[in-house]
Amino acid sequence: MPVFYKCKICGEKHLSPVAYTKESLDSSTVTGQTFKCPKTGQAAKYDLMDLFWEHKDKNTF
Ligand SMILES: [Zn+2]
Repeated sequence: MPVFYKCKICGEKHLSPVAYTKESLDSSTVTGQTFKCPKTGQAAKYDLMDLFWEHKDKNTF
């Protein structure tokens, strides 16, 4: 499942470098992940609330 995060550096959405399942997101195991912005190369910390995923029928932001 493709998971995106809203970049704290450039403000755009990026595809998460880590693959998650719906279950792993629901169980809130995703906390304090550090993702590097592919545009600026700067890293920032992201929590579960910063992540979102796209359903087949509608987008969840
Ligand atoms: Zn970025």
